[in-house]
Amino acid sequence: MRIDVVTIFPGYLAPLREALLGRAVGTGLLDIAVHDLRDWTHDVHQAVDDAPYGGGPGMVMRPHVWGEALDDVLAADPRPARLVVPTPAGRPFTQAAAHAYAAQERLVFACGRYEGIDQRVVDHYAASMPVDEISIGDYVLVGGEVAVLVVVEAVARLLPGVLGNPRSAAEDSFSDGLLEGPAYTRPEVWRGHAVPEVLRSGNHGAIARWRRDRALERTAERRPDLIAALPPDALDEADRAL
Ligand code: SAM
Repeated sequence: MRIDVVTIFPGYLAPLREALLGRAVGTGLLDIAVHDLRDWTHDVHQAVDDAPYGGGPGMVMRPHVWGEALDDVLAADPRPARLVVPTPAGRPFTQAAAHAYAAQERLVFACGRYEGIDQRVVDHYAASMPVDEISIGDYVLVGGEVAVLVVVEAVARLLPGVLGNPRSAAEDSFSDGLLEGPAYTRPEVWRGHAVPEVLRSGNHGAIARWRRDRALERTAERRPDLIAALPPDALDEADRAL
C-alpha cells in the first residue's frame, strides 16, 4: 500500500517510521511519503492560510495551495487513490473503515490546520475520485497530523504480514462487534489479585465461553450502543442467558 501525507508539519509524522510501521516500511509492505504543503506556495512568506469569508475567528487554508499540492501528489503515482481529509466534522472513523482502507492500493491524507481547509478542495476532488472527511472522535485537535497517525496505524496493522500473528487482529475489540475482555499473564497471583481459575484450567471450551461472557459484560457496561447495533443473529442462546 502507498500512503501520502500532505502537511505543514512533516516532522509530526516521524512516528510513521517507528516500531511496527517502520518495520512495514522497511520490508516494503508499506510505502509512505510525507510532503510539505509549503513547497507549493509561491510567496515569500509561504502563506497557506487566509481570513475566512463571512468573518469570524481564525484562518482557513487556501484552496489554490492545496489544489497544486494534491494535483502533483496524486499524479506522482498511477495507483487509484482515495483522498482522506481528517476533520472533527467528518464521519466517525471506525474499525470497519480501517478494514475498508486496508483494501485500498493508495491513500492520500490532507492535514488541516487553523479552522480547516477551504471546503472547495474536498468538493473539487470528490467530483473525480473517492474522498472521505473523517473524524477520529468527538473532540477538537489543533491539526490533522495526529488523526493521520491514528488512522494509518489502525490500517497498517490490518495489512497482511504486518502483525506477527494475524489472529491478534481477528480477535481484537470490534472484530465481532464487542469490546475484548480482560487479559492476564504470569504470575498467577500479583499483589493478592489472582488470575481467574478458568484461564489456568486448560479447558479450551470453558475458556472461550468465559472470554465471550466477559466481552459481553464489558461491552454492555461501557458501550451499550455496540450491543444495540449487533445484528439479530449475533447472540446465541448462551449469550442471552448471561
Ligand atoms: N473549525 C474546525 C471545526 O470546528 O470543525 C476545527 C478545526 S481543527 C482546530 C484543525 C484541524 O485539526 C482540522 O482541520 C483537522 O485536520 C484536525 N482535527 C481536529 N480535530 C479532529 C478530529 N476530531 N478528527 C479528525 N481531525 C481533526
